[in-house]
Amino acid sequence: MSLLKLHDLYFKPYIHKDEISAIVKRLATEVKADLPKGETPLFIGILNGCFLFVADFVRAFKGECEISFVKLASYEGTSSTETVKELVGINEDLTGRTVIILEDIIDTGNTLQEIYTIFKDKNLKQLKIVTLFFKPEVYRKELPIDYIGKNIEDKFIVGYGLDYNSLGRNSSAIHQLTPTPKMKNIVLFGPPGAGKGTQAEFLKEMYHLVHISTGDVFRYNIKNQTELGLLAKKYMDEGDLVPDEVTINMLKAEVDKNTDANGFIFDGFPRTQSQAEALDAFLAEKGEQINGMVALEVTEDILITRLLERGKTSGRADDTDEAKIRNRFNEYNTKTAILKEYFDAQDKYYGINGIGSIEDITKRISEVFNTL
Ligand code: AMP
Repeated sequence: MSLLKLHDLYFKPYIHKDEISAIVKRLATEVKADLPKGETPLFIGILNGCFLFVADFVRAFKGECEISFVKLASYEGTSSTETVKELVGINEDLTGRTVIILEDIIDTGNTLQEIYTIFKDKNLKQLKIVTLFFKPEVYRKELPIDYIGKNIEDKFIVGYGLDYNSLGRNSSAIHQLTPTPKMKNIVLFGPPGAGKGTQAEFLKEMYHLVHISTGDVFRYNIKNQTELGLLAKKYMDEGDLVPDEVTINMLKAEVDKNTDANGFIFDGFPRTQSQAEALDAFLAEKGEQINGMVALEVTEDILITRLLERGKTSGRADDTDEAKIRNRFNEYNTKTAILKEYFDAQDKYYGINGIGSIEDITKRISEVFNTL
């Protein structure tokens, strides 16, 4: 789950699709349990926002039912307006029927009032109201609501059918309005030896960012013989990746140490798809995001020469043995290189020619940084 940008506004993950699914199933079960045996209810969805809710609800409802829709408008922008109009009405004869209204969200209750008015003189057997979400803080009516999926705070939400100026309905999770992100977060990407660490040293000064190198954090822990260091050492010495769970928890702890940072340069992280997803979700919870992945592109023969050269002075066991180096490339090619597509799909991938002088490459990177 990552931050969602719709028009000019940002929305952060709020209710996961699995939670929504559980709520919808519970509602369908409760409604069914309260119906007299043999009763065929007519479910009426209030368009547009309810379409996903109705689709999931009626499939979770075990029993015979009819389904129809009415269309009313109550939203303009992000604040509820006072005027609610009926746009498309109901034509069926509803005499003696059990009508169950399916609403995606009830806040002030204006729409609900309209619904009660519309159905008052239709000679129903009974009228029941089901709403997926309810905002108790702003509800101003005395009208009964029979089933509530989840009470939520009074913040604008989108997703699962709900929109902000027509966008966002197709997200399967619910997102909540959040202030514009303040940080600049960059993933500095590339195979071992591409020059990420070297470049990060310059860039962190130029842009006042915090540099987090997961490799450096592991090496620091190994040097200080911490539990984490002992665990990581056996993987690192072979040129294997340290398990995701360990690395992700360590990365989160490093980020949380720097609560007032302008942003981060992530160097050596993420290195797997699940690390990338974890990073997206972690930043999104804070109302932040990755602005871009800047990748240093260097051919493998040049990289091997560079690493063997570095191994003469770096004291790194994984830089001296060519077989270990090859294994690091193998890890990179099988687990890490795919992240190019992951960020490309979000329009966040920026490839940079990583061959040339250190200053030239810094210049190339900063041209991209300035646009992010
Ligand atoms: P580096 O200094 O970035 O070349 O990292 C050196 C070694 O640390 C790697 O070969 C891995 O064993 C381990 N490592 C660093 N970052 C990660 C990561 N994101 N995921 C798994 N292992 C990592």
